[in-house]
Amino acid sequence: MVDDLTPKNCAVCGKMVVGHCRVDKWGQLFHNECEFMPCLNCGRATSLNDTHLPYNRHVCSHCIDKVVRKDAHIQWVYDRVQEIFGHNFLSLPGRIPVEIVSPDQMLKLHNSRDTSRIPSGLTRSGGAGFFGAKMHHKVYMLDYQHKVVFGGVLAHELLHVWQNEHHTVLPPNYCEGFCNLGTYLFYGYLDNELSRVHMEQMMNNPDPIYGDGFREVKQIFETEGGKNLENTIKILQERSKRRRSIF
Ligand SMILES: [Zn+2]
Ligand SMILES: [Zn+2]
Ligand SMILES: [Zn+2]
Repeated sequence: MVDDLTPKNCAVCGKMVVGHCRVDKWGQLFHNECEFMPCLNCGRATSLNDTHLPYNRHVCSHCIDKVVRKDAHIQWVYDRVQEIFGHNFLSLPGRIPVEIVSPDQMLKLHNSRDTSRIPSGLTRSGGAGFFGAKMHHKVYMLDYQHKVVFGGVLAHELLHVWQNEHHTVLPPNYCEGFCNLGTYLFYGYLDNELSRVHMEQMMNNPDPIYGDGFREVKQIFETEGGKNLENTIKILQERSKRRRSIF
């Protein structure tokens, strides 16, 4: 009530907003004619003074200081992710190396040139098979990710590592849905403003694999799976075998 009459400044250019304007999902107002450059981590409209990167990537002033850059940051996030997996009965095959890469490096790793869709992470596994040789894994993470978002992506990738290590073969909706369950558990464990925004997005994601697939896996995890990740994957394997034999 009180706020309605107070003059507001545009989140993009900083000048006063009068009359019609737009609003981002955090309630920030900005002029119709000012360019909406959402923060890649939280979706806030960034101002002209914020961090603007190639390929239309932007980071707002709330997120820039929380970006994961150093090994110590990676370590901190990794420990949290591992803790959550422990609480949910899943253990990783040792400490997996994690490297932060630029968008160009990430696209190259994915064999892609689509600069409008730069993946946030990638897992590479290989090397097993001969004379009991151990498999080795590496996770690549995109730069400029806020520690909350970074942890969500890392949890997803580390569940790919787990599936690769155990030679798990699942259809994409279960494979990616299971990885996204890791992301969701990480966000739920943190339970802060930013992680809640991302949880809501996941629950509303219309994608058949990353959205529907995830919600189906979550449902199984919470019921038959007994909130146990390794049990859940066994159930997913059973179900996909049954489906393969039906069709
Ligand atoms: Zn403006
Ligand atoms: Zn932000
Ligand atoms: Zn994935």
